[in-house]
Amino acid sequence: MRTLIGSSDPSRTESVPDDSNDPSRAPAVPASSIQFCPTIMPSDLSALPLPALMREASHRTATLLEQARRHFRVRLPAPDLRFDLRGKAAGQVRLAPGMVWQVRYNAALLAREPDAFLAQTVPHEVAHLIAFAVHGRGIRPHGDEWQAVMRHFGAEPRRCHSFAVDDLPTRRLRRFDYHCPCRAHRLTSTRHYRALAGQTYYCVACRRALVPGPMPRAPTPGLPPTRPVGCN
Ligand SMILES: [Zn+2]
Ligand SMILES: [Zn+2]
Repeated sequence: MRTLIGSSDPSRTESVPDDSNDPSRAPAVPASSIQFCPTIMPSDLSALPLPALMREASHRTATLLEQARRHFRVRLPAPDLRFDLRGKAAGQVRLAPGMVWQVRYNAALLAREPDAFLAQTVPHEVAHLIAFAVHGRGIRPHGDEWQAVMRHFGAEPRRCHSFAVDDLPTRRLRRFDYHCPCRAHRLTSTRHYRALAGQTYYCVACRRALVPGPMPRAPTPGLPPTRPVGCN
């Protein structure tokens, strides 16, 4: 599906109402979109665009879950993994209606400190799942049981993250920077998450696909537009 964004007027961007307040539209990462990126080293992470970081976080979550399933001999279905957490919390585990475990990650913090996020936040939340599965939901959230799983992962059993969060937006009506060869675009969070899930948006003026990130300041004449760094 092609969706045209913008118009011949450079001051206009898209004007479709933002439906990001609709909880049923909370972005989920389908299992089919989780890809294995074995070549990415931690030092490369900050160069990756958010979709690749989300795949890394998804992959790391699945890997730790499988490791803990074997070690603690516990059966645990794959959780419903989302990247829709806003505000200052880096991650959250909750039991959604239908008794489905949900893991929610804060995409803004993942983008800001990917190494710390993968090393701390992902094991932190997976350890909650495992501790609850092994010991039941009556345990203290960050008690001995959770700490034991964290140590098994080789992660420091710290309760709080240390990311800088004071300037993070907490309102839901965010806009995200995209650009095409001819202009900058601002996408609603709804369209941004659809783009992360594989939807391609096109500029109505130049008909080229929008790519994430702000417009480069001084594009070199004659060179093709920069593409985000991918992992495959
Ligand atoms: Zn916790
Ligand atoms: Zn354009």
